[in-house]
Amino acid sequence: GGGGGAGGDQKSPSTDGAAPPTADKPRTVTLMPGDGIGPEISLAVMEVLNAMKVPLVFDPVDVTPVMNSRGQTTIPQKVIDSMQKTKLALKGPLMTPVGTGFRSLNLTLRVLFNLYANVRPCRSLAGVETVYGDIDIVTIRENTEGEYSGIEHRLVDGVMQSIKLITRDASLRIAEYCFQYALAMKRKKITAVHKRSYMRMSDGLFIDCVREVAKKYKDQLEKQGVKYEEVDISTVCLKLTENPKMYDVLVMPNLYGDILSDTCAGLIGGLGLTPSGNIGLNGAIFESVHGTAPDIAGKDMANPTALLLSTVMMLRYIQLPDYADKIEKAIIKTIKNDNVRTKDLGGNAKCSEYTKALIKNL
Ligand code: NAD
Repeated sequence: GGGGGAGGDQKSPSTDGAAPPTADKPRTVTLMPGDGIGPEISLAVMEVLNAMKVPLVFDPVDVTPVMNSRGQTTIPQKVIDSMQKTKLALKGPLMTPVGTGFRSLNLTLRVLFNLYANVRPCRSLAGVETVYGDIDIVTIRENTEGEYSGIEHRLVDGVMQSIKLITRDASLRIAEYCFQYALAMKRKKITAVHKRSYMRMSDGLFIDCVREVAKKYKDQLEKQGVKYEEVDISTVCLKLTENPKMYDVLVMPNLYGDILSDTCAGLIGGLGLTPSGNIGLNGAIFESVHGTAPDIAGKDMANPTALLLSTVMMLRYIQLPDYADKIEKAIIKTIKNDNVRTKDLGGNAKCSEYTKALIKNL
């Protein structure tokens, strides 16, 4: 479903368009604490939100996979029912079970709710040393097709074929999302990433669609001083390692987005600090980018910052920006000024100690 069209009449995707929740009318959010360190970092987030009395009510659901009638593991119906009601979820990492008949739960959620935009803001945190210092890049990745369309087959022995699917609808839809996001968030430059010199038809179509949407927003872009450019992915890789500050918002097909979003996460100090949003017409899921960290699970050692920053994204999406700003400032104060940090950032604070210090800084 969903559809696209450069003239799409969807509401600004940087928020979900609903009225902001209030103390009288709190918003319900599906909470998937997840596996491994998931429950610990989710608890930290709950404590921070409770301390600020944010008008949210959480519906916790267990995402332990269940078997469907065809013997495949899938998402429990309770999770789907909850998401259908709330259209909004905060999610911890899920363990990917190994074995056959398995379909990634993350992928299942993405498809079920048509979460077509994967958004990852990679911003350096004051106090966390990195090679380049002040990085602030947002990757916007098409989340439903491209190389992940799942169309793969064996032609003959020793010859496999995997199809990269690019459609006009999905390309226009992600471009539309990107331009609206960049304008709403007051960004300065949009870079459309491609390899159209070789993928002439598929990346060619993708870029033509982004260009079409750029034309549609021409006046607004000029008014806000937002530049638009198209750059080959290999040049983007080179420049990201030489001078990453030249990039601001990157928009691209699925596989390029998968790779470049992790590259950008590395630039700001790793996956432990990187939040993300999977946003679509029927809902949104905000989640930390890292996995379940089985090596430190249950030891009160996890860094809850990535899930906290995912919560910050969620709060902005449901139009509670003041709470979002407060959490962001408290994170910086705790890490930079108080030098209270978890082990992954070179400190010795436990997850619970870091959370307590952060709450004092709210
Ligand atoms: P991982 O991200 O769980 O761990 C990699 C390393 O980073 C570990 O040393 C871990 O201790 C550390 N780390 C990660 N998050 C941290 C945090 N918040 N604080 C401190 N240290 C942290 O990656 P992995 O080991 O490859 O994956 C473990 C499991 O997680 C696998 O089952 C994988 O499929 C799953 N996974 C899930 C998601 C998701 O649900 N979105 C994403 C990635 C991996």
